[in-house]
Amino acid sequence: MSTGLSPERAVLEVRDLKKYFPIRTGVLSRVIGHVKAVDGVSFDIRSGETFALVGESGCGKSTTGRTILRLTGATGGEIRYDGEDVLAASGDRMRRLRKSMQIVFQDPYSALNPRMTVGAAIREILQVHGIAHGAEAQDRVEELLVRCGLESYHSWRYPHEFSGGQRQRVVIARALALDPQFIVADEPISALDVSIQSQIINLLEDLQDDLKLTYLFISHDLSVVRHMADRVGVMYLGKLVEVADKDEFYREPLHPYSQALLSAIPVSDPSVKKQRIILKGDVPSPANPPAGCPFHTRCPYVMDVCRSVVPELKPTPSGHYAACHLVHPNE
Ligand code: SF4
Repeated sequence: MSTGLSPERAVLEVRDLKKYFPIRTGVLSRVIGHVKAVDGVSFDIRSGETFALVGESGCGKSTTGRTILRLTGATGGEIRYDGEDVLAASGDRMRRLRKSMQIVFQDPYSALNPRMTVGAAIREILQVHGIAHGAEAQDRVEELLVRCGLESYHSWRYPHEFSGGQRQRVVIARALALDPQFIVADEPISALDVSIQSQIINLLEDLQDDLKLTYLFISHDLSVVRHMADRVGVMYLGKLVEVADKDEFYREPLHPYSQALLSAIPVSDPSVKKQRIILKGDVPSPANPPAGCPFHTRCPYVMDVCRSVVPELKPTPSGHYAACHLVHPNE
């Protein structure tokens, strides 16, 4: 299943991606089950767009991003970047892919080595990949820092000498060192002070325009996603339950889980009355997901069929994908 893009327009194609973590017990570390962090996820991202993955903490969105970059191994499925089979790549092909595909982590402090100046950290990447050495590498470091809103002399400073927002600018500069085309931005502003979040979002948008970047933007914050995304995918218990163009998603979310998430966004206009949908119960364990629709234990519209038949992620005639028996009755 793809999610609405023709293959020639998609720079990233993810098909039936699975990432299971084994649950082990005893002195022999016997495997007694699996946590299905990502369980059969498929989507496409077209060149130059921002595709947002949203959902509550633990839904599998960050694991999806890390698996795409092979920071953790996939259990199954297929990932194609620019037509290249990412999971099968090795040697030179993998090095080429690593240059093109980068990540910006949530916590900029733990993403940086506290014992290295930020200039040394970025120079090391340039040198390891044979892009620049010596004075040329230093020039490139300073150019990257300035491009990300810092000063060239910041290259001689250590991570603890920066504010949180400045550190995230350093992490973004480092991610750009290899001239990537695709960036996984994994909750890039959620560890930052609210007052500087918009500055980092603006920087990411400027860089996207200037450098023609493609983003997989992972966030639990639907207000930020509304500002940032072109298309939105909603994850629940390791599965995609809805995928749609941003405007359509915010105008008319189809999946009951998405409706509940969107009902929780505060509105700035006090005259607008909004009915908040409060979900009952906790998210079930991904080690023991419910049969049928994974959302049926919390869904206000649950029907008999939902308890036994897994709803497929399928499009409506307008190309809005949802995995729900209410949206696709009798199918
Ligand atoms: Fe709710 Fe059933 Fe739709 Fe699942 S399939 S979201 S339980 S109505």
